[in-house]
Amino acid sequence: MNIATKKVDVTKEAAALLEKMGVAKELYTGGDMPSYSPVTGEKIAALKTVSAAEAAAKIDQAHEAFKAWRLVPAPKRGELIRLLGEELRAFKADLGRLVSIEAGKITSEGLGEVQEMIDICDFAVGLSRQLYGLTIATERPGHRMMETWHPLGVVGVISAFNFPVAVWSWNTALALVCGNSVVWKPSEKTPLTALASQAIFERALARFGDAPEGLSQVLIGDRTVGEVLVDNPKVPLVSATGSTRMGRDVGPRLAKRFARAILELGGNNAGIVCPSADLDMALRAIAFGAMGTAGQRCTTMRRLFVHESVYDQLVPRLKKAYGSVSVGNPLETTALVGPLVDKAAFDGMQKAIAEAKSHGGTVTGGERVELGYDNGYYAKPALVEMPKQAGPVLEETFAPILYVMKYSDFDAVVADHNAVAAGLSSSIFTRDMQESERFLAVDGSDCGIANVNIGTSGAEIGGAFGGEKETGGGRESGSDSWKAYMRRATNTVNYSKALPLAQGVSFDI
Ligand code: NAD
Repeated sequence: MNIATKKVDVTKEAAALLEKMGVAKELYTGGDMPSYSPVTGEKIAALKTVSAAEAAAKIDQAHEAFKAWRLVPAPKRGELIRLLGEELRAFKADLGRLVSIEAGKITSEGLGEVQEMIDICDFAVGLSRQLYGLTIATERPGHRMMETWHPLGVVGVISAFNFPVAVWSWNTALALVCGNSVVWKPSEKTPLTALASQAIFERALARFGDAPEGLSQVLIGDRTVGEVLVDNPKVPLVSATGSTRMGRDVGPRLAKRFARAILELGGNNAGIVCPSADLDMALRAIAFGAMGTAGQRCTTMRRLFVHESVYDQLVPRLKKAYGSVSVGNPLETTALVGPLVDKAAFDGMQKAIAEAKSHGGTVTGGERVELGYDNGYYAKPALVEMPKQAGPVLEETFAPILYVMKYSDFDAVVADHNAVAAGLSSSIFTRDMQESERFLAVDGSDCGIANVNIGTSGAEIGGAFGGEKETGGGRESGSDSWKAYMRRATNTVNYSKALPLAQGVSFDI
């Protein structure tokens, strides 16, 4: 079912939202960088970009801010993030709507993204009183050994279009309570939501009072601005979210100057449906995981292995769901699937489908859905039954394509599951405890996220988020991810009157 719509004035609505959130008009009018809404394909703003020299000056300012901010007690730093959480609650509907306009997310997902920002603020406030080090047993009498955690400096954040604001908040809430400053290079496809997030942050700063100037900054620009951040020696950590192609460039550049990297890159996530699975539950989880966000989540389910004994029960039902899912304008309808981000994404989807066909794939869906917008690219999600895992199945295509394959042997399907370059998210649907445990065991899923009886997408902030292999190995958000934003010092204190050396070494002079 395609939901037809009347034409919306996305430009006007975006401007009204930006004004309400406190973004100065000159920041997004008359500039050199366009922003488009995928909803209609229209240009909705023209932002001013920063030059390399201006970016370097902002990094310098953030470095100065760090030097003052690190001296503020961590629980007081948490107070700033508590205020940020309050401001985000107040502007949840507005920022969520702007996310829908600029990234094309359906209403509940736009709001969900802001909720994720609120959740990480709550987490970081608690964390600000829990930046614990250890006390460690020492082999020397009259000594004490301990660990202390110190902030790093300026944390660079590079983000992708598909989570235009949540990724910034995951990094920023943690980085700031840890005592760092932040410089953010948002995606050139979603700069307005970045300006809005910054304006909301500045409201929190104004209420906080005495934070140093330039504590959190935004650099508007394309990848060349990102490169300035990556190469600047005053940025000891860069957290970069985006394609594996981007990570392949950013990773070695950071390594060359011994800077730290948190790389959150592409995924090629799979689900396995076992003979004992609750098929109703699996169907719903797969539908959301594969079609939600129009297949534009890093954790989108892209591959599905179904046991031969349940294939004919599940796959026809899945195809039916693909045939009936609503595709439409997310601003005016309750459609479950919104637009692809741009024409390149649509073309990439068509190319992958054609390649899949040449590898023996049978396709349901995948065609363009015409809603009357020349430059708005809507597509029916595609379910492609494949004889085996080959060709485009082995790569991430950032669009709603689910490759479905039959399996018969558990060990073989786990091997197939792991036989791709990315290692972000994975799931198994089973009521057999041995199967679920084997999937989670050392020789099971090789991903950073491995789930049982839920889909691959929709992670909560409480866990560490990230993946292995070509996904980059970074971890963000909950658990002990905060440690990546700090440096650890091991301190040994001698409170005795002697100087015993470790390992019994003697050095008497
Ligand atoms: P992209 O790689 O095109 O761009 C991401 C960001 O990196 C942008 O801000 C861009 O300007 C910047 N960039 C690109 N090349 C750069 C370079 N050489 N140096 C510095 N900065 C550079 O990605 P995209 O199309 O915006 O997002 C989609 C991709 O992001 C998908 O592959 C998706 O799986 C991935 N993603 C991963 C995660 C995760 O947590 N693992 C989350 C969201 C998205």
